[in-house]
Order: sequence, then C-alpha cells, then structure tokens
Amino acid sequence: MQAKIFHQSSWARSSRGTPIEMYKKTHSRDGKATAPILFVGGVHGDEPEGVRLAQEFLKWLSEAESKSPEAILHSWILVPCLNVDGYLRNLRTNDNGVDLNRNFPARDWSPEAKAPRYYPGPQPSSELETQALVDLIKIEKPRLIVHFHSWEPCVVYTGHNGKNASEIIAGNSGYTVHEDIGYPTPGSLGQYGWLEHQIPVVCIEEKEHIRLDLVWLNFESGLKKLMTTDFET
Ligand SMILES: [Zn+2]
Repeated sequence: MQAKIFHQSSWARSSRGTPIEMYKKTHSRDGKATAPILFVGGVHGDEPEGVRLAQEFLKWLSEAESKSPEAILHSWILVPCLNVDGYLRNLRTNDNGVDLNRNFPARDWSPEAKAPRYYPGPQPSSELETQALVDLIKIEKPRLIVHFHSWEPCVVYTGHNGKNASEIIAGNSGYTVHEDIGYPTPGSLGQYGWLEHQIPVVCIEEKEHIRLDLVWLNFESGLKKLMTTDFET
C-alpha cells in the first residue's frame, strides 16, 4: 500500500501573506528513504511557461504515483509556484519588488542590480519566499534542484555534476544544455544550491511566450525519464 502524495496548501506564505503550495512524495530503496529531487516553478512571476510546466509535471506525477508508484525511483518535492504574488500580477519580482532569483544567501550575493527588475532585496534571504525555500533545502537536503523558467530555450546547470540530469531533462526537446547561462547571477538559486550545499541545480528555460499547451510536450519525455531512471549526481 503506497502512501499518498503529501500536500500542503499553505506550506509557506509570501511577503503579502498569500499561501504557497507544496507537494511531496518519499520513495525508499533498501528500506531507506532516498534523497529527494526538488522542483520549483514560478520563481519569476512573469514566466507562466514555468508554472505550467510544473503543473503538468505534477499531474503526471500524481497519475504515476497512483498507477505505478514502483516506476518512480526518486523521492520528490514540488513547489509549483514560489512567487505567487508575482504570478498573479504577471511580474518578475515579488510584492516587495525583489527578484527572488537574486535574493538567495549565496556567498556571491550582491546588493547591486543591473536593472530594477533584478533588485536583489535589502539583504540576502530578506524575502519570506526565499526563506521558505532555504529552510526546505536545509531540512530535506535534496540531491538535485530543478527550477522552471522561460527565456531563450535552453537547459542550464550549476555544478558540474548536474550535467547528467540536464541531458536527461533536455531529452528530445532539442534545447541545448549549458553549464553557464552566460552572465553572472549572484544570489540565484543555482549559486546558492551549488556554492553553499554542493547540490547541482538545473534551470529549465522554456521558450518565452511559447503556447502554454506545448511546454509539457517539450519536456514530458525528459522529466519522465529523470524520475524513472537512475542517474549520477
Ligand atoms: Zn526566470
């Protein structure tokens, strides 16, 4: 008898007090819980492609967990939309005008922003959304973090041992895999996961403004494969 997916409709709250959802399922091997993969959508509120991808992925996970849970090899945690307020208002930043992907307490966090939409906040981890994810990472110690964005299509990883997972995820999407996005991202989730915890972080950049019903088709096979095969990190 498989345990149900654990769901918290108010796992955390945004700086405006809006509830943030979280889903989680633990899988064991040889009687021992495996380290989870953490998936996060909606870090940037104006990238609906990433939220849609997270939602579609959750739909598939829910179905797979009820029909053939033995096929899923990895424990997982999914936050479909971290920046709930930005998402509701189609803004990159949260309600305080902070770019959450520059607000993580990585050692390279910088108070400078190249433009207002990249405002990193008054100090690292100043935002409740960031704090919630930081606490989750410290408690759950994921083996891999994957976050869903949209921009120029690519799959980017931070931490050399994220290469395998990135290639699996890119699958047949035709999107290229890079180790570096090509510009500095101080205080990003990638920098935080890798520099502070040595957890490889994969950033899926779906094509900006792509039709939302196409995002799952692009990553369906890659994400399914990630969950159903063994891979090294
Ligand atoms: Zn983004």
